Amino acid sequence: MMALSHNLGFPRIGNRRQLKFALESYWKGQSDAGELDTIARQTRKAVRQYQQGLDLQPAGDFSFYDQVLDTSALLGVIPARFGQDDKEPVSLDTYFRVARGRAPTGEDTFASEMTKWFDTNYHYLVPEITADQAFRLASTKLFDEVQEAREEGIAVKPVLLGPVTWLYLAKVKGEEFDRLSLLPRLLDAYRQILAKLAAQGVEWLQIDEPLLVLDLAPEWQQAVTQAYAELAQAELKLLLTTYFAPLADNLALVSALPVAGLHVDAVLGDSLDTIAAAWPQGKVLSVGIVNGRNVWANDLRASLNKLKPLAERYGDKLWIAPSCSLLHSPVDLDSEDQLDQELTSWLAFAAQKVQEVIILTRGINQGEQAIAAELAASDARVASRQTSRRIHNEAVKARVAAIKAGDDRRGAPYAERARAQAARLQLPLFPTTTIGSFPQTADIRGLRRDHKAGSLDEQAYEAGIQQHIRQAIDEQQALGLDVFVHGEAERNDMVEYFGELLEGFAFTRFGWVQSYGSRCVKPPIIFGDVWRAKPMTVSWTRYAQSLTDKPVKGMLTGPVTILSWSFPREDESDLNSAYQIALALRDEVADLEAAGVGIIQIDEPAFRELMPLRKAPQAAYLAWAEKAFRLSAAVVENTTQIHTHMCYSEFNEIIESIARLDADVITIETSRSDMELLDVFRDFAYPNEIGPGVYDIHSPRIPSVQEMVKLIEKAVERLPKERIWVNPDCGLKTRNWEETRAALANMVAASEALRRAY
Ligand code: GLN
Ligand code: ZN
Repeated sequence: MMALSHNLGFPRIGNRRQLKFALESYWKGQSDAGELDTIARQTRKAVRQYQQGLDLQPAGDFSFYDQVLDTSALLGVIPARFGQDDKEPVSLDTYFRVARGRAPTGEDTFASEMTKWFDTNYHYLVPEITADQAFRLASTKLFDEVQEAREEGIAVKPVLLGPVTWLYLAKVKGEEFDRLSLLPRLLDAYRQILAKLAAQGVEWLQIDEPLLVLDLAPEWQQAVTQAYAELAQAELKLLLTTYFAPLADNLALVSALPVAGLHVDAVLGDSLDTIAAAWPQGKVLSVGIVNGRNVWANDLRASLNKLKPLAERYGDKLWIAPSCSLLHSPVDLDSEDQLDQELTSWLAFAAQKVQEVIILTRGINQGEQAIAAELAASDARVASRQTSRRIHNEAVKARVAAIKAGDDRRGAPYAERARAQAARLQLPLFPTTTIGSFPQTADIRGLRRDHKAGSLDEQAYEAGIQQHIRQAIDEQQALGLDVFVHGEAERNDMVEYFGELLEGFAFTRFGWVQSYGSRCVKPPIIFGDVWRAKPMTVSWTRYAQSLTDKPVKGMLTGPVTILSWSFPREDESDLNSAYQIALALRDEVADLEAAGVGIIQIDEPAFRELMPLRKAPQAAYLAWAEKAFRLSAAVVENTTQIHTHMCYSEFNEIIESIARLDADVITIETSRSDMELLDVFRDFAYPNEIGPGVYDIHSPRIPSVQEMVKLIEKAVERLPKERIWVNPDCGLKTRNWEETRAALANMVAASEALRRAY
């Protein structure tokens, strides 16, 4: 017996997003459940093919929407409003209604809440539980998928979200109670699941407990101990699986559990020495050595060197795997026919990562010479990347190294700047503005598409976009807004637009990663030092400003957001990449200012997205994230007003950090919280100006003047009226002009009514 190769999960959306299209067609009523099932089977079959050569493949990691919702369905946890019969299995349409509020059959009702899966960009459906929550096996999906793989003769290790993490992620509906009071009943249900899998002849179960990488209260640590004391008695072996961060203070607890195996993330987790010192020799240790969350090819020699001492200690109990489920990687690099060869040679997507695991396992079992060719190729890749002029730009590195204290500070404190800006801008009380984008019409998308395809030349494209800018300016003039925007017609996406113009970024054709349900994102890849070869937004903004006497905001995406929504480098720290992007944006900010633009907005909707899961490293993260933002902004004179925009609701732990950004104005999403979000800003005595969103741009509903007046009054109760702006929650690109016009007209009327009142 020797070291064993396995995988924790594979993308299920398909190499051409087949499942996405099948789902959306089913939801629209254009295809039936049978057709959806056919695509799902084909997708799973392709996934198994991609994983050929592994000693153990995952099973049950497929999902029609989300693996957390799959677990809730398996446990029969469907909120009462969906009318689930507690004797019947959960039907496909009930499942979809929990996820989306509607399905081809069944009554519409509001969907369950969705939130980010740990620190990834994947979103799961939050389980809803009540004090009298019952559990029962209400889905056969997991068992069916095990069976399906077996019928192909494949050795599988089913994947199941563990009880403690599931419960930890669940939210109490109705009266508050201690979630842990449900643990005994929940464990009964898990015991039944395990017994059923054992009866199917399953030897190993991968049971995911990523909560073990969080700072846990003692009662949750205790719950883990209790759960695994019970579940370890099952007739199958448990591979307790953790990922995304170190076990740290939970390692001792985990090492004492009576489970047969442990999976650790060797990329983002504890050092392997720490793990080896704690985890017993006679048990399985699965080492997640291949990064499951990024797109870079593995440094095979470095990995082999890390694995060798573990092979000595654990022998045939050593398992080799990706760090986490490959759900977070694009599917298959072989699909990329437009990336150059060199860049392609640096990358690995899910299919290639599986091969890396297989190669490393062979290297451990048969010795280095058995993978000599692969090692040589990997070494050559590592060497070429160290010196590649495509990656390394000495001037950029030198500029980051030369950042001085003070480079990220404005010339005067906010109060003084505010006076200078008020004198220049002459804005009324409760100034009105929008967040940046206006409706992205079919005509606009057509212009961009034809330009990209080469069928529309530069001049015609420019004229076409200018026409839309002119329309946006005319509309804003007619509406009577105070601060205008150019409308962002030239932008497909707020990160992609800048990535395409900055050096150091690459784009794939099929590098999609599931974000939630059928939604996928295709993050740009930062492969090298980032710099700006030429201005990116100045001509559009200058054109817009030439059409009006009202101030037009320059619009940029901030450094932290650009980094967060891209695949980052592995050969450079996030901090340095963020500073490089910040300096490129700083040049853009300076150019905008020089072009006479008096207000510049630097959007940071993803400002907290790279925040570490553990408390301890969070302050250091926030410090460089803040500095990156300030570096991009602080080049301007006191008379130039810097705005930022954020659209999420958790400002609690980061309010000090938000204040330290020292933006003159921040616009935030608040309308759905009825302005309660502003409590944090009030309690902290937030010192600068703030534009709390007064209407929800996600809904086509037109808010009334009165409604918005009420919201602004609530804001005035919490913050000085002189520092309040009036704006929607976010950009308007998903709305149409009719809705936009009506809503903004009411918004302007609301502001005017309040000016009269105050
Ligand atoms: N300026 C961007 C827009 O209006 C902001 C988008 C965002 O916050 N996600 O579209
Ligand atoms: Zn927003």
